[in-house]
Amino acid sequence: MFETTIAGSLPKPAWLAETGKLWPQWRPAGEDLARAKLDATLLWIKLQEEAGLTVIGDGEMSRQHFVHGFLERVAGIDFAHKVEMGIRNDRYKAMVPQVVAPLALTGRVHETEARFLRAHTARRIKFTLPGPMTIVDTVADRFYGDRAKMAFAFAELLNQEALALQADGVDIIQFDEPAFNVYMDDAAAWGVQALERAAQGLTCTTAVHICYGYGIPANVDWKKTLGQEWRQYEKVFPALAKSSIRQVSLECFHSHVPADLMALLQGKDVMVGVIDVASDELETPEQVAGTIEEALRFVPRHRLIACTNCGLAPMRREVAEAKLRALVAGAALAGQKPASA
Ligand code: ZN
Repeated sequence: MFETTIAGSLPKPAWLAETGKLWPQWRPAGEDLARAKLDATLLWIKLQEEAGLTVIGDGEMSRQHFVHGFLERVAGIDFAHKVEMGIRNDRYKAMVPQVVAPLALTGRVHETEARFLRAHTARRIKFTLPGPMTIVDTVADRFYGDRAKMAFAFAELLNQEALALQADGVDIIQFDEPAFNVYMDDAAAWGVQALERAAQGLTCTTAVHICYGYGIPANVDWKKTLGQEWRQYEKVFPALAKSSIRQVSLECFHSHVPADLMALLQGKDVMVGVIDVASDELETPEQVAGTIEEALRFVPRHRLIACTNCGLAPMRREVAEAKLRALVAGAALAGQKPASA
């Protein structure tokens, strides 16, 4: 049987935050908000278990955005004066905080939700953190003056939190690096090294998620410009294959990523994206199994994990729930076929 998991985020319930948005406003405030975050986490733990996933996440219910959730506990960042910045090579504009002084953690970032997750499921748990290069691409720099230097500064902080998450009982720590698919040369030159710095000393399973972004219009339009063959992974996979990171999560179903690029990840566990997060259309178990079978031409059976292409945060909740069930049904179907097939 194949392991099954999600890339990271899940839709926030309407009583927790605005729905359908990447940077949603919270609905409750104060203690009510803290309680509502954990209630939503518990809801999604249960729904993931019922869907049959073997690795469970917190769905990122406690953070407004996959990058800014971490930044909120970092000193040296001015959140009061956000500026508009083009991110992912100007693919879209976002209001981002500014780095104005040396960076330091003000305390634990995800202790509450990580321990809550550990306490409420007996299955293996995965926790996601933004990768250093993607953080650098989602804040404005008014201090370091050098992207690599700032990435390594963030990597040190990520490492502190990652080691603490491991002590909280997290089995898999995943860093999200969509920026690797945008700045391929930088990713190979220093991005993977910064990632390894973030994962330094971890003895739990380490992972990196590299995708073509959430299913928002700016990303859908960008993908249309990438042509018939998406070869971005080709530049970074060889560097990742040599790295200490154990698992790599990639986008596959409905993408134009040539499946043979997965062969560049020799020695790694590969989280194959079998669920499209840019479409509400539900995958059939046969489609999911088909994606897995295609990947098996290049990934050893024991190294393949069925996963979503990216986070499900901006989707409708009932669509996300149905997609989790489709993921598990398809992985089970692929698992029934003889190994030689
Ligand atoms: Zn993603």
